Amino acid sequence: MTERLEQFRNVVGGKRVESAGGQWIDSHDPYAGSAWAQVPRCTPDDVEAAVTAARNAFESPEWRDITPSARGKLLWKVADLIERDAERLARLEVRDNGKLFAEMHGQLRYIPEWYRYFGGLADKIEGSVIPTDKAQIFNYTLREPLGVVAAITPWNSPLLLLTWKLAAALAAGNTVVIKPSEHASVSTLAFAELFEEAGFPPGVVNTVTGFGAEIGDALVTHPKVAKVAFTGGDATGASVAAKAGEHIKHVSLELGGKSANIVFDDAPIDDAVRGAIAGIFAASGQTCIAGSRLLVQRSIQDEFVEKLVAFARSAKLGNPMDEDTNVGPVTTRQQLDTVLKYIDIGRSEGATCALGGGRPEGTELGDGWFVEPTIFTGVDNDMRIAQEEIFGPVLSVIPFDDEADALKKANQIAYGLAAGVWTQSMPRAIRMAARLEAGTVWVNTYRAVSYTSPFGGYKRSGLGRESGQKAIEEYLQTKSVWISCADGFSNPFVLR
Ligand code: NDP
Repeated sequence: MTERLEQFRNVVGGKRVESAGGQWIDSHDPYAGSAWAQVPRCTPDDVEAAVTAARNAFESPEWRDITPSARGKLLWKVADLIERDAERLARLEVRDNGKLFAEMHGQLRYIPEWYRYFGGLADKIEGSVIPTDKAQIFNYTLREPLGVVAAITPWNSPLLLLTWKLAAALAAGNTVVIKPSEHASVSTLAFAELFEEAGFPPGVVNTVTGFGAEIGDALVTHPKVAKVAFTGGDATGASVAAKAGEHIKHVSLELGGKSANIVFDDAPIDDAVRGAIAGIFAASGQTCIAGSRLLVQRSIQDEFVEKLVAFARSAKLGNPMDEDTNVGPVTTRQQLDTVLKYIDIGRSEGATCALGGGRPEGTELGDGWFVEPTIFTGVDNDMRIAQEEIFGPVLSVIPFDDEADALKKANQIAYGLAAGVWTQSMPRAIRMAARLEAGTVWVNTYRAVSYTSPFGGYKRSGLGRESGQKAIEEYLQTKSVWISCADGFSNPFVLR
């Protein structure tokens, strides 16, 4: 007899709900390679209910008239609840996406800081008094929320990437409908319940699970959705933005990347090796900021690659829940096929596979969707494995001659999410940081983020910024108020 899978429900208007059609989607455990839970397979009718609940909450006195300071305190309260439940939520994420417990638990323990930071900003959203050139006019601005925000998130770090939207959107006074990835929805459903417990009015935070292809359009084009905040692949992002554009909605996009991690010959080599590993094998390469193009100065290439291969070879593959595991499975069966396809492409393009290059064997890996940490050398910057986002543990090593060559190769790409520079020369670090076409540049470190620092993409990696003080602007609009202090209203036929 097959075991009944645990079922998780959506949160809509403060209630736990199944889908209108009564159907479910299986959620898979990438380590076991089998289904472990179910989430509702929503329909456009469910989207209608969730957006309506969010709009009603937006217009309700409980939310509309709450003071900004009280709104901030609700965010602080939810931060405490997330801290309380960090371990439970991290375990749900690992069951769903197969990433290391150490990574997801670290994220969950850090996530509360976004709610504290943006909670603190809630009562610092200020308009201004404008000294216009018009006599006897008192002109001031109000900074107002947009309304209902649709937050669409991917599977790789569901709660962290949701938080980057949600904390800012709520601090600004919006209400939200969250559409998590069909592959990793469970943690979002458990997370959404905490907002009611924290005292948010029902309907301020809602969820709809299901297939993007079935419910995405209904959400993105809904007349009551004011803004779409999207994180995901660039192709999906482009189509979501086009649909939102037809309906004149605000849009922000956090998209994919193919980031250059650049090692100069004066770099602290052992640190740079660790930085290269962090860039590609952490999270099995399934991060938007993966440093999947490793640019190494030709003069140190052989020594560097030798050390890199030795380090990567020592990484332990295994159960993502175990503390000593370094590399877990990839999240979906489909992603496994995609990564293996790119490994074939790399070989057929003439690159040399210096490490890995297939599925690993080992009883402790069971039926999990593992890919060996894979390093290609002899990669030309025009090859597909150097230009296309693989989203797996596959590294392309590209040699360069000097600083100008490094910059040219680093910028010769459609994406612009992040870049790493390894050098002991501060002037070079500053020159490179100024000229790299990327929203984030790390020098002698990699994969660092903070609630205080803006994050987002150049070029095809996105529009808008998350985190940092300015991120709240993405969820506000400005109203200009004109009050006449004059005695009368003269000639009505001319612009005043
Ligand atoms: P996708 O683009 O496939 O999906 C992202 C989200 O969009 C999912 O919730 C998906 O739902 C939804 N979606 C799919 N089709 C539609 C549609 N027509 N309308 C509305 N929503 C839709 O990305 P992945 O989930 O595969 O995530 C991996 C990608 O995300 C990578 O490219 C990665 O680089 C990028 N990413 C970017 C980050 C950043 O901050 N810049 C951070 C992390 C990831 P469903 O799953 O049901 O299809």
